[in-house]
Amino acid sequence: MHLIKNRLDAWCPISSSMKPLPPDTVRLLSSAQVITSVGNVVKELLENSVDAGATSLDIKMENYGLDRIEVRDNGLGIQACDTVVMAVRHYTSKISCHDDLERLDTYGFRGEALGSICAVAEVSITTKTVGEDISTQYSLDVTGKVVSQKPSHLGQGTTVTVLKLFKNLPVRRQYYTNAKKCKEELKKVQDLLMAYAIVKPDLRLTLAHNKVVMWQKTRAADLRGALLATLGSGVVAHLLPCQHLQEQPQISLDGFFPKPGADYLSTSSSSHDKTFIFINNRPVQQKDIMKLLRQSYTAQYPSESNRNRYPVLVLQITLPPSSIDVNLTPDKTQVLLHNKEAVLVALEALLVSLYGFRSPNDATPAERDSTYNQPPSPPQADTSPAEGNPRTSESGVKGLSLDAGDEEDPKTIPEGRVPAPSTGNLRGDGTSLDHPTTTNSSSSSSSIAEDWIINHISGGLLGEPHDDNATLSGPGDAQGELFGPVAVVSRGSAADGRPTLSAESWSRGVALTHPASGAPLQPVQIHRSGDAASGPQGSPGKKLLLNAVTENRASLTAYDLISNRTARAPLSAAAMHEKEARAEVLRERPAASLQEVSDGVQERWKNLREEERTKYEEKAKKHLVHHGQRTILAAAGGGREAESPSTSRQQGLKRKAPLANQQLLDQLFSPQPQKKKTPAKPPDVKPSRPLPFSVAGLRQGLRRLWSQSSAPPPSGPANAPPGPRLVNRLAPASAWVVLCGRELMLLNPFRVEEALLFKRLLENNILAAVALQNPIQLTDGLLGGSEYTQALCNMAQGIPELHGGVILSDPRLLANGFKIRLFPGSPSAAPSRLEVTALADCVPFLGVEDLREILTGVLRRTAATVQDSRPLKVRNYLQGEAVRLARQLPSNMTRQEVEESLSRMTQLLREDSRTCIHGRPFLHQLSVVPGSEHEAKSLLLPIEEL
Ligand code: ADP
Ligand code: MG
Repeated sequence: MHLIKNRLDAWCPISSSMKPLPPDTVRLLSSAQVITSVGNVVKELLENSVDAGATSLDIKMENYGLDRIEVRDNGLGIQACDTVVMAVRHYTSKISCHDDLERLDTYGFRGEALGSICAVAEVSITTKTVGEDISTQYSLDVTGKVVSQKPSHLGQGTTVTVLKLFKNLPVRRQYYTNAKKCKEELKKVQDLLMAYAIVKPDLRLTLAHNKVVMWQKTRAADLRGALLATLGSGVVAHLLPCQHLQEQPQISLDGFFPKPGADYLSTSSSSHDKTFIFINNRPVQQKDIMKLLRQSYTAQYPSESNRNRYPVLVLQITLPPSSIDVNLTPDKTQVLLHNKEAVLVALEALLVSLYGFRSPNDATPAERDSTYNQPPSPPQADTSPAEGNPRTSESGVKGLSLDAGDEEDPKTIPEGRVPAPSTGNLRGDGTSLDHPTTTNSSSSSSSIAEDWIINHISGGLLGEPHDDNATLSGPGDAQGELFGPVAVVSRGSAADGRPTLSAESWSRGVALTHPASGAPLQPVQIHRSGDAASGPQGSPGKKLLLNAVTENRASLTAYDLISNRTARAPLSAAAMHEKEARAEVLRERPAASLQEVSDGVQERWKNLREEERTKYEEKAKKHLVHHGQRTILAAAGGGREAESPSTSRQQGLKRKAPLANQQLLDQLFSPQPQKKKTPAKPPDVKPSRPLPFSVAGLRQGLRRLWSQSSAPPPSGPANAPPGPRLVNRLAPASAWVVLCGRELMLLNPFRVEEALLFKRLLENNILAAVALQNPIQLTDGLLGGSEYTQALCNMAQGIPELHGGVILSDPRLLANGFKIRLFPGSPSAAPSRLEVTALADCVPFLGVEDLREILTGVLRRTAATVQDSRPLKVRNYLQGEAVRLARQLPSNMTRQEVEESLSRMTQLLREDSRTCIHGRPFLHQLSVVPGSEHEAKSLLLPIEEL
């Protein structure tokens, strides 16, 4: 005690070196931990908007977000009484106590984001709820307190503007002076938006950087639609909808996974930016889940030299909110799962049923050590699931448990029945295990007919006599393939005494045995002439080995079905070897049983010399390339010329071919090539080829063209035909050379199509109006004058409704997304009343100002047609739509298509409006065709003088 006192005495005079930090410093330190990057700000603001029910989001950034980040939504807005504390740290409208986290259904809950952003930037918030007439802009100080407010013109929703981010954190700001880092951050923002665009299909999103729209996504009906809008149809065609539902513990997995054996490059990415994992709609980065997904996927491509890639997929994990803890990291990108093992087991079951069990032969030595490559358990009908898989046995959850269930439940199999593993054509009449939502997703997808099914489960009586030979199907039998999404329904552990199947044995087709012979049921057997010699009937063990042999191919079927054509599935190196070795073994030992043959083959593979093995690996690689070519050919309908493997790979990588093409065309068409921002960088060397060209040859060609169209040969401008004529295509840029009179011009057909689409949309597009919860009462004051109300009252009206109202049927209102109801007044009683009952929500912030714009046109008699009545906002929206639609056009238009575009251009677009919607001309002048020999010679003169 004495000693302690002495020490205290000794300390005290120095006066304590520990002091509380000033509140400002505390705020800055903790805020900088919450707001770590530009991406982080965007994420927080976007999540707030989604939490506020927004369906439309516009994100604008300047100087990579350092100068300005603006997130504008059409959500519920912030009530005036809440604005005082909206950005004060730890104020939230989402939870009121810790227990609420058990029921959390919002992204935010800590009330930290706005306050933290205020501490590191200048923030203003403009907001308007549905009940308010106008919006208000609030300026906030570093503590998140409102320092000033003023009325603003914005529509319903909230706009948060963040200026000078990290202004008081010089090191953080310094970090962003590096251009590479800035670009990386921008990419992160894009990746982030893509994730939300996928998980919220009905969300419309745009991202603009330095006033250039970098990315946009329109609303989609479902997950598949959202994927099409974000990843593109080229990628989605390779994905398969999958689902796993489980009750004990409650786990739902669904998403889109690469089809088994799909083209490796098209379905993988060098980083995990396209592996979208969501837990309760929250984009997360969960290492274990990512590892499992990646291993299962890459194991299918044993011969790929680069297996360091990540699958392109979407996995949505839905769990009861009480079984997860989101409050783990400041950015909430990681989630603590109370039932992590069960989730991993469920995911593994789904993956096994999709990609099958991997043969140890197909795994790399490193992978052979992993838990996924345990030797296959001896197949038995009632194998306990995933025997040899430590995770499965540890957790006690039985892999893919297809227990006999309640007959009433459409999701389960009737009592006494167990599904027969099948790859036969069971669609339609088999007892479907598809969950209703799966059916939905399949019906919502147009190209689903091309999808294959791996594990479609149909009812089949256990113990029912089953003819082993009944459904033997040859390898070329394309009908043996099934179409549709994969669905796995699991109801926890099987009750005692009920047959339980393991996922592995199921996927290997050995889960069920014949009651009499004990042999595994094989509805589909790959017929091999070599096997016939040994006889189809062997002991059960022999049959199993037959399956084991097919597994070596890491593919469940020997054939792929692409666009209704069969193509031999790519074989792995082991399978290649097996093909040859099997014949050799049989030659050496003609009397050998199947088991012995298989043993012999495996033995040879194990003892193979290194160079022999590489030979097979190379063969397998070639086979895969060949398969890739066949896939492309088959997908293209076989009509096109065979493309070289390298080009097919490149195409696989580029998913927006039309866009790239458009860029190429824009370059060709731009009068002055755009200055590169980095002059130090040498210009991209483009592959070029000298073109043999002679003016005489061209003249001859042109004469032929005239004579073909029975027009007189060109002797002067007077004889020139009026419209432009197609000469030929300028490969590979998809630009076309056309002749207008005597002028040779270069035509960009995409610009024409874009302009035509825009024109069509302007004329005909009707914006769908969504009913408003509270109709907007239109008064003279709101509209800005009684002449506007009068103009509305004079408009065409529909059939009167029961309650006395009548909807204005003027197409200029309806096409622009305004549904307005008029309650006609009488001279004696109240005056007429007008209200907006429905409003288009696809155009952000469409409102009364836009209605006034229409009415101004009507009053000035400049808006006689729908096209002329379009308000600026609607025009801009339709312009965006036209660009989007034009981008979906095929990259290479045929001559006929271009001719059609040209003729529509001449008919529909006036001479003076022949520029694309961005103001660039369709036609770019090349040269004037010489009319006489003399002119031609004078043209050549400068060249000859050289
Ligand atoms: P949290 O999201 O955790 O509640 P924030 O600091 O991000 O905390 O936001 C504080 C509060 O401000 C929210 O709870 C919400 O009520 C309101 N808010 C923020 N952004 C918006 C928005 N875009 N629309 C409507 N309300 C918003
Ligand atoms: Mg928030």
